[in-house]
Amino acid sequence: MLFCPKCYTEYESQITHCPECREKLAYALPPHPDQMELFEMVEIYKIPDEITGMALNSFLVDAGIEASIQPMEASFYGGALNVMLGYWGKLLVPRDEETKARKLLETFIREFHGK
Ligand SMILES: [Zn+2]
Repeated sequence: MLFCPKCYTEYESQITHCPECREKLAYALPPHPDQMELFEMVEIYKIPDEITGMALNSFLVDAGIEASIQPMEASFYGGALNVMLGYWGKLLVPRDEETKARKLLETFIREFHGK
């Protein structure tokens, strides 16, 4: 079984190149971008408090970015960890949407904090 590394189509015949993309066929597939996305989350912002976190998350999700917030586990330390770190949690976005997310983040901060 051969695969096209570009369009991920499988070919059973003796052809060596994908007729669609003209890519040389390979025996093993590279990781699919959709699967990579799940694991490639990058931190773009340190969230000061829960309310900002929730607002920011829904702002990005509304804009089509699959953002997620990762609260620091404050309950274990009775909030001491947050005070120590100086923030409440982290804002994570898929790596391939990082640039777009950062632009939206700037807009968000301008609009909600008047800066
Ligand atoms: Zn192809």
